[in-house]
Amino acid sequence: MSSRPVVLVDIDDTLADTQVKMLEYVNRNGDKTYQYHKLTREFRDGKIADYEKLVQEYLSRPDLVEEILPYDNTLEAMQRLETGGYEIHIVSTRKEPLHNSTIKWLSRHGFDQHIKKVHPRPSEKIGHKFKQDTANLVNAVAAFDDTLRVVIAMAEIVPVVYLIDKPWNQGKLPRNIVRVSSFVEAVDLFLV
Ligand SMILES: [Mg+2]
Repeated sequence: MSSRPVVLVDIDDTLADTQVKMLEYVNRNGDKTYQYHKLTREFRDGKIADYEKLVQEYLSRPDLVEEILPYDNTLEAMQRLETGGYEIHIVSTRKEPLHNSTIKWLSRHGFDQHIKKVHPRPSEKIGHKFKQDTANLVNAVAAFDDTLRVVIAMAEIVPVVYLIDKPWNQGKLPRNIVRVSSFVEAVDLFLV
């Protein structure tokens, strides 16, 4: 077992500006135009059929997913987490067709040098269960994520979970979930 405490970091919409790119694809290729600030939880949960079809199409294209950019200053925040004495594990609900491009992406943007481990999600496993099980497995001391169902599941196990504030994750939270504007802000709060 590791001697350094483990923190779990999500990729999409935590480190990476995924939703914006995905929405551009959906609006370019579908009949309807959706607005970012109106992407409620129902969209994220796959309940809007027309939208979800295009999202799945986008997620089946590693070439497009690789074009997503990290948010500003996330690399520096990762570096501070590492210097702060934490072991950083990446836990993403991306499925198997995206695993290789995810590793390439982490390396291309310099994240790999601060990451100890990437936990690949088996495609058949439900996203929030996969993250909760991973948190349990590594005995995570903190987690950073933007998906409401995920943070609620992880908060049953992880002492503090930072929720990156997004239109799709509004709602009441258990006390050990801290809503923050960005991953960078979360790291600032966590390291004080
Ligand atoms: Mg995410």
